Amino acid sequence: MMLIPTHHFRGIERKPEYLQPEKCIPPPHSRPAGTMWFIRDGCGIACAIVTWFLVLYAEFVVLFVMLIPSRDYVYSVINGLVFNLLAFLALASHCRAMLTDPGAVPKGNATKEFIESLQLKPGQAVYKCPKCCSIKPDRAHHCSVCKRCIRKMDHHCPWVNNCVGENNQKYFVLFTMYIALISLHALIMVGFHFLHCFEEDWTKCSSFSPPTTVILLILLCFEGLLFLIFTSVMFGTQVHSICTDETGIERLQRKNQRRQRRGSWKSVKETFGGAFSLHWFNPFSGPSHPKPLSDRDWVRQVSSVSDTENTETTTEEPSEERKDLDSAEVVDE
Ligand SMILES: [Zn+2]
Ligand SMILES: [Zn+2]
Repeated sequence: MMLIPTHHFRGIERKPEYLQPEKCIPPPHSRPAGTMWFIRDGCGIACAIVTWFLVLYAEFVVLFVMLIPSRDYVYSVINGLVFNLLAFLALASHCRAMLTDPGAVPKGNATKEFIESLQLKPGQAVYKCPKCCSIKPDRAHHCSVCKRCIRKMDHHCPWVNNCVGENNQKYFVLFTMYIALISLHALIMVGFHFLHCFEEDWTKCSSFSPPTTVILLILLCFEGLLFLIFTSVMFGTQVHSICTDETGIERLQRKNQRRQRRGSWKSVKETFGGAFSLHWFNPFSGPSHPKPLSDRDWVRQVSSVSDTENTETTTEEPSEERKDLDSAEVVDE
C-alpha cells in the first residue's frame, strides 16, 4: 500500500542559484554572545505577567489568609517554608525558560560560500528557511513568533513567552512540575483550612472577614485546580516527549519515524544535564552545554532521491510554514 503524504511535495533543485544564496547575508548586528534572550511579543509578555500575578496571588492567600493567622506555629512554619521554596523554584524556572535561548539557528547563514564549504555529496541536501535565510539543521523548525529557526523545537509557549527547544526544555519541565506541586500543596492547605474553620469560629480562623476569606479561598481553589490539571498534563507530555526522543512537532507530523531515536535514558540525561542528581531539579544548573554544530549537522541525507549524480543538491523549505507545524521533510514516493 502506498501512503499518500499529507505535506507539501518539494522539488530537489540541482542548482544552488535556486536558493538565491547571494541574497543571504548575515545580519549586520548579530546578537553578541552573552546578550539576554527575550522575545518581544505582546501576547507572550502579557501571559508571562499573568503567570507571575497568579503565583503571587496564591502566595498572598496562603500566607496572609491561611498560615500567618493560624495558631498552629509548627504547621504554619513547615507549610510556609515548603510553599515558598516551591514557588521560588517555579518562578526561577519560569525566568530561565523565558530568558534562555532555546537553540536559535544563526540568521542569514545560507550564503553561497557556506553552502559550498559544506561540500555536499550525492544524495545529500541542505534545507533553507526562506524567512531567516538560514540553513536548518535536522529537527530545527521555524517559529513565527520568535522569528527564528529553533533547534529541536517542541512548541512555542506563550506562558513562558518563548519557544521550548533544545536548550531550555529542562527549565520548562521544571516550571510545569513546580507549578503542579504548589497547586497541589495550596489545594491541600485550603482543604485543611476549611475543615479547621468549620470546626472553629469563622471570625477567629482568618484576619479577614468570613465572606472575604471564603471568596479568597474559593478563588485559590479554582486557580489551583485549573493549574494542577493543566501543568500536570503538560509535565506528563514533556516527560513522554523526552523519554521517546520525539518533539511535539514531530509527534504531530509523525515525521521522524525514519529517524533513529536515541535511547530514552540518554535523551533524558541530555535534556537535564548529565547523570541523575539533585541538579536535575535545580533551575540554576543548566543542561549539558549545547554542542556547537559541525558541518555534518547542517547536511541531511536524501537517500530516496533516485537521480543524485549531481554533487550539489539543495532544497528550499516551503514558504508557508506554520508556527508549530512546518513541513520540513523531503517527501519521497
Ligand atoms: Zn526560520
Ligand atoms: Zn517561538
